[in-house]
Amino acid sequence: MPSSSPIYVTSPGLPPLDEFVQEIASIWESGILTHQGPKYRQLERDLEQYLRVDHAPLFANGHLALQVALRALGLTSGEVITTPFTFASTTMAIVECGLTPVFCDIDPTDFTIDESKIEALITPNTKAIMPVHVYGLPCHVEALEDIARKHGLYLIYDAAHAFGETFRGKAIAQYGDMSMFSLHATKVYNSVEGGALAFNGHDGLLAKICAIRQFGEIAHSADSELVGTNAKMTEIHAAMGICNLRHLSEYIDARRKAFLVYKGAFASCPSITTITYPADLDPNYAYYPVLVSGSCAISRDDIADALAKEDIYARKYFYPITSEFTAFRGRFPIQETPIAKSVSERILCLPLHPQMTPDDAKRIARVVLTTLS
Ligand SMILES: *Cc1c(COP(=O)(O)O)cnc(C)c1O
Repeated sequence: MPSSSPIYVTSPGLPPLDEFVQEIASIWESGILTHQGPKYRQLERDLEQYLRVDHAPLFANGHLALQVALRALGLTSGEVITTPFTFASTTMAIVECGLTPVFCDIDPTDFTIDESKIEALITPNTKAIMPVHVYGLPCHVEALEDIARKHGLYLIYDAAHAFGETFRGKAIAQYGDMSMFSLHATKVYNSVEGGALAFNGHDGLLAKICAIRQFGEIAHSADSELVGTNAKMTEIHAAMGICNLRHLSEYIDARRKAFLVYKGAFASCPSITTITYPADLDPNYAYYPVLVSGSCAISRDDIADALAKEDIYARKYFYPITSEFTAFRGRFPIQETPIAKSVSERILCLPLHPQMTPDDAKRIARVVLTTLS
């Protein structure tokens, strides 16, 4: 029988209500609700600093940010080498922009794109590589940079899981040509819904990104010089982002405590493996995935069901791999990414969020271990 209230896989970081109300009071006074007003400009500056990049234009969500990135780089036809072990958004952004995703298999230990398999997939039509820092585990950034440079390809990171991390002394956003961060409610840091594109240099690129974000408009004119969309972040969302940024270290701290309880509990369990952060990563504790061994009699689904009976809701994240989506039926070869497919069938993300206590993590770990024993 459930012993307390349900525990979901995630729960958003929320600032104190009165702090948010105070933050939005000036919006009521100014009547400026959107169009890169004062809240937007403050958050953009705050995130440029936090992510340690020259530019961090903000968007209505991370998915639109990815799409705008591709269009601003002029990528409207050709192939993008990417991973099928990701959230729908990565693959959908590529397809929606008229590009063809070419799926590369993943590393079985950190679930990021396996760079040793990329070069065999490069053709004269390849334009870019779009890897994902899965669960906040950094991709093999130096090797990817070498491949991208050697073949003249753009390197665009889906960094939705890696907000604010530091890797090998560099901010995670400093790797590659551009990084997309999702500020969705389910992420480590949220503006309710939102997204950011982080990059260095390229001032002309910033202007292009901002134009595409707003119907392709040339600043202060009714004319459009580019084909654009509407992907603007509102002042209310920016205000939420400003408040949550002040509390982010508390959210990450609470996540870290639960993470360490899990890590201790599963350390000597032979049936599951969990993630190990590289020593030179300053992590954000975004997710706690467990990978059930292929030879274990208990399946990932058995564990998810046992947890659900206790009112604990883990998530099969990512399952299925995106190349298997019904929307793409028959379009992509699934058998060419066997590791991604196998991992997707054995992985389960346990609840991890700032409202969880170490005792919650203990209780969840006990259910998992009892199911496996
Ligand atoms: C959440 C997420 C996105 C999309 O972000 P939204 O802000 O929800 O549009 C993209 N990629 C990955 C890996 C994600 O987890």
